[in-house]
Amino acid sequence: MTNLTGMRPIDRKERLQIPRQPVPKQAPGDRISNFGEVYQGYDAETVIIEAERCLQCPDPQPCMSTCPMENNIPLALWHVSQGDFFEAYRSFRQTSTLSEVCGRVCPQERLCQGSCVVGAHGGEPVFIGKIESFVADYVRLHGGLDLKPETSTGRSVAIVGSGPAGLHVAELLALRGHSVDVYEAWPKPGGLLYYGIPGFKLEKPAVVALIERIEALGVRFICNTRINDPGQPSVDDLLNRYDAVLLAIGAGIPSVMRIEGEDLPGVWKSIDFLVTTNLPETDLPAGFNLPQIKGKRVVVVGGGDTGSDCVRSAKRAGASHVMLSYRRTEAEMPGRAEDRGFAKEEGIDYEFLTQPIRFIAGDNGRVAQIEMRRMKLGEPDSSGRRRPVDIPNSEFMVPVDIAVLALGFWPDEKFVKQVEGLNTKRWGEIEVDPDTGMTSRTALWAAGDAVNGADLVATAMASASRAAESMDRYLRILSNEYKILESEMNPTGVAVAA
Ligand code: SF4
Ligand code: SF4
Repeated sequence: MTNLTGMRPIDRKERLQIPRQPVPKQAPGDRISNFGEVYQGYDAETVIIEAERCLQCPDPQPCMSTCPMENNIPLALWHVSQGDFFEAYRSFRQTSTLSEVCGRVCPQERLCQGSCVVGAHGGEPVFIGKIESFVADYVRLHGGLDLKPETSTGRSVAIVGSGPAGLHVAELLALRGHSVDVYEAWPKPGGLLYYGIPGFKLEKPAVVALIERIEALGVRFICNTRINDPGQPSVDDLLNRYDAVLLAIGAGIPSVMRIEGEDLPGVWKSIDFLVTTNLPETDLPAGFNLPQIKGKRVVVVGGGDTGSDCVRSAKRAGASHVMLSYRRTEAEMPGRAEDRGFAKEEGIDYEFLTQPIRFIAGDNGRVAQIEMRRMKLGEPDSSGRRRPVDIPNSEFMVPVDIAVLALGFWPDEKFVKQVEGLNTKRWGEIEVDPDTGMTSRTALWAAGDAVNGADLVATAMASASRAAESMDRYLRILSNEYKILESEMNPTGVAVAA
């Protein structure tokens, strides 16, 4: 490998001696007053040095095998090290259309970066995610790729949901020449990316730009349309109107605690809290209540990424004190450690081994206190994490103005039950062929969190890649572009293939 000048070869030993290049960040004191991203991104000179740290490991590269999208990371990093950011972006796009998103929100420390061998050699792993988002942003800000759909196939696709899985399939199928309509329940497209992930992790202009890129391919976004609701099209209507349909509805049903006072005014569900703190009123559905957070005491319950997003949003919205309650210790927390580190720098208090047992109203009928109980760790449960166990007589009161429940999400069982003949699993996840994403209904696919349960963006996209591949093949079979083999017939008699 040579450096940017193309003159001097850099050997493995030299590469291992290059220190990790830091990415500029907003200081904690500055960033709590805005919703801008914490990381401010590499510049072109520094990103090249960081990419030169890659050892170009032989196949199988550990970083690729731990990337849910199986991105060709060494190839992309090699192009970056040569200063060819467009070619690097093309390398990522061989497998992923959302590098600007994954580079920002993947928990890279336990995926690609976590297995980078530079870490095993005593160095800090190559900052793969930051390089990936840099190249996507660079290409966007320098005119973008000249993406052109193939000749029209005359086939049409409806996608329900415009989160990561829906957008990924929309872009892939539009490029293959199919006509794609995307139905979105919220006023703007982007689903989780626009409404669920705060701007300090994924800036909204990056999401808007990728929607515009997909629209430029001819994809139509039909917003404010909740499929299967009264007065709105049903899934069967879409199946009658389009050649193929994808359900990419995510997993947006919040878990509840089932304790006293949970429905008091001032007790918020995490998604409602996030959208109202992160977005202008004009982006919200009519009649959405806006919480008054300035000067208020906020307690968030839950140790996942959503909990981190809520406490950090509350801080930025001007809360006087923000606390996160989690029933195990920090070691068992499922959320990303980096976000937690940022939250602590931003002044968030963590109360580990605590569990709310009831929400108590004040004189005005709004939540005013939370009765909490202290916990200790018991034996491991089925997930392998030690189970939280009550400590008797350990109850204490926490004064609060706003409580936010960030306890996880489930697929929308009510939605899927409305689709006749659609097989589901125990918690409402849609059952699909794992190789193709095809459901038990003819011409109906599903992908993302609706299939996997609430999971990572990259995991949702990986299942979306498989569905897009299968849908494209199915649509071409309809157009007699492929001969149908008996082995490609599913039990419904419709030809599909992996
Ligand atoms: Fe790493 Fe995620 Fe990008 Fe894969 S998709 S290379 S895991 S940041
Ligand atoms: Fe490069 Fe690290 Fe991947 Fe090896 S594991 S190819 S050093 S990024």
